[in-house]
Amino acid sequence: MSIKDHIKFYQQEVEPFGARLIAVSKTHPATAILQAYEAGQRLFGENKVQELTDKYPALPADIEWHLIGHLQTNKVKYVAPFVSLIHAVDSEKLLLEIEKQGARVGRTIPCLLQIFIAREETKFGLHESEALALVTGPVVQALRFVRIEGLMGMATLTDDQNQIRQEFRGLRRLFDDIGKLPLPAHVRMKELSMGMTSDYRIALEEGSTLIRVGTAIFGQRNALN
Ligand SMILES: *Cc1c(COP(=O)(O)O)cnc(C)c1O
Repeated sequence: MSIKDHIKFYQQEVEPFGARLIAVSKTHPATAILQAYEAGQRLFGENKVQELTDKYPALPADIEWHLIGHLQTNKVKYVAPFVSLIHAVDSEKLLLEIEKQGARVGRTIPCLLQIFIAREETKFGLHESEALALVTGPVVQALRFVRIEGLMGMATLTDDQNQIRQEFRGLRRLFDDIGKLPLPAHVRMKELSMGMTSDYRIALEEGSTLIRVGTAIFGQRNALN
């Protein structure tokens, strides 16, 4: 199947759930992205700032670029002018830098808080208690150029479908719990970014609103990515 066919397939997969597909194009060239674009795909995800800032000016202006990977504070300035959603905010320090860069470019920057849900030591993310403290605390309260739109998480890399489901379910529960709290106007639980090539189905069943699919659309990446 072609990239176009894959896009059509995954768009049909998300539709009954009212979710949206992010085509994760990291490591793949502009030509591949254009094929997906021609199939109607507009949301693309990249995990590296350098690669994202290289691709952005070379591709159609109505693409919504999602930064899905870990973001270092010193690189926020490069994506602040155009990024549609930063998925992996995992510290107060990073939020404050996004605030600063949002103010500089005069944009309110949409973000998700990355929550640690996997039974692995290597993944980034906030623990539930940290996320709760953050969204109800004074630092978030004072933000003017950041909008927190929801949560993001990555399940453990395992064949145990039940474990993956429990991890996604836990994230959905936190999303719902935070959504019931009294929150500032610029914090809302609207988007839940969970699910990738290997586990997107479970994620949709557990209430994901944004799935991030790369390999199944564009093919294998090299081992370093
Ligand atoms: C690469 C990546 C994906 C996509 O992974 P696939 O298994 O290729 O679908 C999703 N989310 C993040 C954060 C990624 O870095």
